Amino acid sequence: MAQHKTEVTADCPNCGALVRLGSKPRIGQRVVCPSCGEPLRVINLDPPELDWDFEEPVPESDED
Ligand SMILES: [Zn+2]
Repeated sequence: MAQHKTEVTADCPNCGALVRLGSKPRIGQRVVCPSCGEPLRVINLDPPELDWDFEEPVPESDED
C-alpha cells in the first residue's frame, strides 16, 4: 500500500512564494511564509488561499 503524501501549497500574498500547508490544511490554519517570514492564515481551501494573519489588538481597558 503506497501512501501518497499530497502536500497542499498556496501562494504567499506578500511575496508570492510557495507556502506549504501540509497534507490537510484547515481554514484558519496559521503558517509563516518561509520566504518573507510573514504570518499568514489559510482563508480558503479550494483553491488554497492565504491571507495575512492580523493579530487582533487587545483593547486596553485602562482608560486614561
Ligand atoms: Zn512571503
